[in-house]
Amino acid sequence: MPQYEFECRRCAHRFTVLVSWAEKESVRCPKCGSSDLKQIWSPFSAPGRGSEAGGCRPTAEGG
Ligand SMILES: [Zn+2]
Repeated sequence: MPQYEFECRRCAHRFTVLVSWAEKESVRCPKCGSSDLKQIWSPFSAPGRGSEAGGCRPTAEGG
């Protein structure tokens, strides 16, 4: 089951839920019960595209 992260706009509580895509619309804040939530897309859920290329050049310019 996919995992979704939400942030409550009301109390700023952050939580993670394990629900299906259809069910996540009925998710509510476990702290204050508000349904006014903002979904947080973590960078880990996105497919890896590109990696940090190691390139270190000393700047020997000017003086
Ligand atoms: Zn809340």
